[in-house]
Amino acid sequence: MYQLLLRFNDQSLMACSVQMYGGLMAFAEGENQNPYYLVAGTKPSPLTEAFSADYFNELISSVKPTLSLKAFLATEQRIPGLGNGVLQDILYEVGIHPKRKVGTLSSDDAKALYLSIKQTLTSMVELGGRDTEKNLYGEPGGYQTRLSSKSQNEPCYKCGDIIHKESFMGGSIYYCGTCQK
Ligand SMILES: [Zn+2]
Repeated sequence: MYQLLLRFNDQSLMACSVQMYGGLMAFAEGENQNPYYLVAGTKPSPLTEAFSADYFNELISSVKPTLSLKAFLATEQRIPGLGNGVLQDILYEVGIHPKRKVGTLSSDDAKALYLSIKQTLTSMVELGGRDTEKNLYGEPGGYQTRLSSKSQNEPCYKCGDIIHKESFMGGSIYYCGTCQK
């Protein structure tokens, strides 16, 4: 099944299908007035140098201290490209629970979280994406995803405890209750 089929002059085809939630749109530059699209274009990608430790600390100070880490990282297009899928591993790597409040982060926590965003995303990109997703040719990525829908009730890579799944803020969160506080 697909929502968009592109037929090229050389008879080749590209079929595009959306899983779960998404949109496929084509616009001439300047025509798309969608607020999420517009705001995402004004903020630095976490893979660029403009996304510095200072910038990240300013971002933390700009939100309410009661905001959860999940909401901070993955809503309002605060960090373009960082969504619920990659969020799980970023927090897992630093032992931070997705429901934890931004205001409870120490400066060391904030530094570790910043490095995890950079390192986790860079390694996902360098390895061709997460192994839970497929590329244009239907091949899975080379990044071994730590937390995804496949990890529920599986043992934690670090401590062997069971990975929990919970509904939170209109999506699922996965975490290890022992490693993530
Ligand atoms: Zn664990």
